Amino acid sequence: MSTTTTTDVKALESQHVLQTYKRQPVVFERGSGMRLQDDHGKSYLDFLSGIGVASLGHAHPKLAHALADQAAKLVHTSNLYFHPLQGELAARLTALTGLARAFFCNSGTEANEACLKFARRYWHTKSQTNRTKYVAFTHSFHGRTMGSLSVTWDEHYRGPFQPLIPGVTFVDGADPAALLAAVDADTAAIIVEPVQGEGGVRPVSPAMAKAIEDACARTGALLIADEVQSGAGRTGEFLASPAAGLTPDFVALGKALGGGMPVGAAMVSAEAAETIFAGDHGTTYGGNLLACRAALVFLDELAGGLQAHVREMAPYFLTGLRALQSRVPAIREVRAAGLIAGLDFDKDPAPVVAAALERGLLINRTSNTVIRLLPPYIVTKQDIDEALAILEEAIAAV
Ligand SMILES: *Cc1c(COP(=O)(O)O)cnc(C)c1O
Repeated sequence: MSTTTTTDVKALESQHVLQTYKRQPVVFERGSGMRLQDDHGKSYLDFLSGIGVASLGHAHPKLAHALADQAAKLVHTSNLYFHPLQGELAARLTALTGLARAFFCNSGTEANEACLKFARRYWHTKSQTNRTKYVAFTHSFHGRTMGSLSVTWDEHYRGPFQPLIPGVTFVDGADPAALLAAVDADTAAIIVEPVQGEGGVRPVSPAMAKAIEDACARTGALLIADEVQSGAGRTGEFLASPAAGLTPDFVALGKALGGGMPVGAAMVSAEAAETIFAGDHGTTYGGNLLACRAALVFLDELAGGLQAHVREMAPYFLTGLRALQSRVPAIREVRAAGLIAGLDFDKDPAPVVAAALERGLLINRTSNTVIRLLPPYIVTKQDIDEALAILEEAIAAV
């Protein structure tokens, strides 16, 4: 137990931390596997994993050991020098994604930022400096930095920060004809989440995927797949793009990749990589030894059976969610892909999130009406049963 109380923690934060977050009223001090423990010793089943990040669960022994070992050896050297882990991690990621090269950064928004810049750089190198526009989708979320924000749809995130990057068109995800009309000879790139996360767990439709591929083939526009939430094994495959029918030139990765350490990566096709040169982009921390070590542990686990486990859990999870829907009329739709799921309610389910928290289950609400579940990849059938039972109780209680 800590020496400070929940009240102390809240008071200190409310006085000194910039108030950009509306936190749930709980203080977490430790975790283990699927569970977190608060400062009163109460245990919570974690079906959010820090928004899709704690892919190995909490306090994973191999990750903890590797980080301690790496921290005792070498944490950071900057990108001025070589170290042994970046090339190794890049080799693993290129094999997993089919893209030729990796650029490492520290977050999802930075991975998208890199992809957006690389797309511009591609056309600049080819002397087509007119090709500066981006096409994005309604309900998209790509991050909070100015570039990523420019292709993020929600007015609530964008409004106070205008003007953003000009030349961004948002296309309705249900309107392939609008996508075909929006992409032209001035489009640098289309950016798409194969499964929208913050936007309410909305997978791209086959018709839209075809329109995207056709538009890219017709105009030469590049394709950026934002797989920060859908990638790194979350859906059962390393990337969600191939199953969706998308062949991106760039893929943004983050979240689950570091198992909790801040790791981002922009994956780049061979053709695009040839248009990008030394000095074009950079970061002080990106790809440091501690971050790479964490990602390598994650990829080892994934290859060592965890990816197969995700695939095995996915249909069980979906069956449970559908059964829940059949008993709860307020759930209009279940949308899921592997271990990301959204329950679309007929009204704001925020009270359900609070009721679940009280009952020791962590979930969240996104896109106004959707309860989103993003369990760690280590989730078991028993955990799924428990979580859905608590969720049903929470729904009944509100
Ligand atoms: C979370 C998320 C981001 C932003 O990632 P950060 O690490 O918060 O910068 C970008 N794109 C998608 C699809 C995400 O889910």
